[in-house]
Amino acid sequence: MNDKLLIDVSRLDKEGEDFEDVLDDAVLDLNDEFLRPFAGIRYAIFAQLLGRELLVRGSLEQDFEAVCSRCGGDFDFTVKVPDFTVSVEVDDKTEYVDLTDEARQSIILALPTYPVCRPDCLGVCTSCGKNLNEGPCKCKREETDDRWGALEGLKIDEHR
Ligand SMILES: [Zn+2]
Ligand SMILES: [Zn+2]
Repeated sequence: MNDKLLIDVSRLDKEGEDFEDVLDDAVLDLNDEFLRPFAGIRYAIFAQLLGRELLVRGSLEQDFEAVCSRCGGDFDFTVKVPDFTVSVEVDDKTEYVDLTDEARQSIILALPTYPVCRPDCLGVCTSCGKNLNEGPCKCKREETDDRWGALEGLKIDEHR
């Protein structure tokens, strides 16, 4: 695992080159207890010199351990950046181009504002706090019971 995404411009193949590796996810520096990266940023990129331009294209992936913003449950998900593209101007003196910050920003931009464990997450009951993905809570059953009670009351009224 590397702590920087460096392209060695001085040794880059004229036809362009593929790079695949893992970048330490500590570079994300999120400091968010509800969104914890793990296993590093996986990248697969193609770097090519076009005159004075270094063009880099490829994809990034980062795994996260997250807390669902609806139900509060833990879940894992992967953020994917399928169209990572960077263009950097270089000259004869350029040896390395550091793309660590570009990778970092691309992952952060792709993060969901309110991560949910699944699109149809039912969240928690606002009265008892039970995770409704695990089944209905007693609050709902009491509501149903009340409705039956009201119905029975009507029947008694009819007999009078
Ligand atoms: Zn959830
Ligand atoms: Zn409830």
